[in-house]
Amino acid sequence: MQVLFVAAECEPWAKTGGLGDVVDALARALGRIPGAVDGPVEVFLPRYRGVPIPSRAAVDVLEIRVPDPMAPGGVSNVTVRSFDADGYRLRLVDHPAAFDRAGFYGDSAGDYPDNPRRFALLGRAALETRRAERRPVDLIAIHDWHACPVALQRDLHYAHDLVVGGAAISLTIHNLAYHGWTPRDQVVQLGLGTTAGDAWGIDLLGEGIRRAETVNTVSPTYAREVLQPTAGMGLDGDLVARGDRFTGILNGLDQEIWDPATDAALAAPYDAMSLAGKAACRADLLARVGFDPTDPSAVLGVIGRLDPQKGFDLVAGAARRLVEDGARLVVLGSGDASLLEGIRAEATRSPGRIAVLERFDRELSRRIYAGADLFLMPSRFEPCGQGQMIAMRYGTPPVARRTGGLADTIVDLGVNPAAGTGFLFDHATPEALAAAVERALRVFTAADRGPWQGLVARGMAVDWTWESSSAPLYAAQFRRAVALRLARTLG
Ligand code: ADP
Repeated sequence: MQVLFVAAECEPWAKTGGLGDVVDALARALGRIPGAVDGPVEVFLPRYRGVPIPSRAAVDVLEIRVPDPMAPGGVSNVTVRSFDADGYRLRLVDHPAAFDRAGFYGDSAGDYPDNPRRFALLGRAALETRRAERRPVDLIAIHDWHACPVALQRDLHYAHDLVVGGAAISLTIHNLAYHGWTPRDQVVQLGLGTTAGDAWGIDLLGEGIRRAETVNTVSPTYAREVLQPTAGMGLDGDLVARGDRFTGILNGLDQEIWDPATDAALAAPYDAMSLAGKAACRADLLARVGFDPTDPSAVLGVIGRLDPQKGFDLVAGAARRLVEDGARLVVLGSGDASLLEGIRAEATRSPGRIAVLERFDRELSRRIYAGADLFLMPSRFEPCGQGQMIAMRYGTPPVARRTGGLADTIVDLGVNPAAGTGFLFDHATPEALAAAVERALRVFTAADRGPWQGLVARGMAVDWTWESSSAPLYAAQFRRAVALRLARTLG
């Protein structure tokens, strides 16, 4: 089975959130499972500004001509730069007019108005690359709406193409909130003709859901939740209609990339057998954010994309009470800066107790996962979440809402004292978050250290490796998609 990924993010080349982590780790893991794929997975990614080409890598350069309705003459020249990444083959789609920009998706003025064209070009370049190479493909894994033009292109332009027309498509929804809504006056950018879609335009994610042979999202609980109108973001009917072709596959975590024993960003390494290094990381973090490094108060870490989904407003609403409880707060976020205003106001009231850092900072994120005592993730919805898994791996129990993948990955200590790995709460309110943190603080400050140590140890011991369960489930899903496509083509 020859497998292509088409995605807008892939760590370490381009990442704003978990999508980048998962595309990288899953592509590598599939390559490690004996017999799962023929040759390495090929990952097609835009060559955004600043994406480096490793100087020592042997880079293949392929010039292709890609149908592009927005280009003079209807065709764009695209350079595909391919090289071996860590366990897969990265294929950078290089077209500066589309991708050499300040942001991946937009800038301070908002989303780029030509995003439909940019991501249609990504997908079409992937298909045209394999056509130019005359290398048939069995399965195209499309990730989120950015890759959904591939499903339309296959069906509307390449259905009878001998190289890519028979390819099965498997869609993975990492976030149902982003659909790639393309209004009617922008549909022309997709190169599908002007009649495609509804009267108002095209919902790219919806098209992907309807056209892919198989569809999954990234946790079983989220997969159940989105079948309801309350969580389905308008696509619940389409997901219900896919029946058992729509599933939930829980994300794993790359335990080599996220390992406090080898993490070069940390002040000191540590593991579950010896947590001395974690104390050094804690002091280092406090010093870096301008707090007293010897302060024994519980340090609460928060990291995430600044999006209403992530509940930064709940953290802001709970902050005063948590500081009065004696906690310290370190918040790192990137995206819509206005979502940090509430926490900034609290930080001004409580200097030396709340630190707010607005940027994308890989190293600081690692220092927070390691240096905090608790990790807060009060998401309104959460398809899976990587943050809580990373925190557990770094010995930092999570306090999170009981929703989506958070409910699937965290065992509440109150519900199951012998197996607990964190603290869950139900209502998306500052009061419920604060009450859950207070529950955690009671364990953190208890004279009997046993329950806290057990909590930390169990979280660090969880096996999140992709190879152990998630990646084989993807391989099985891909095989099913290929069989379904074949049956349809033969039928
Ligand atoms: P989502 O995919 O919704 O963004 P996840 O919890 O699945 O949420 O993944 C978030 C990933 O992005 C984690 O690896 C987290 O460490 C990282 N991340 C989020 N915001 C930042 C930031 N401001 N700086 C560095 N890393 C970040």
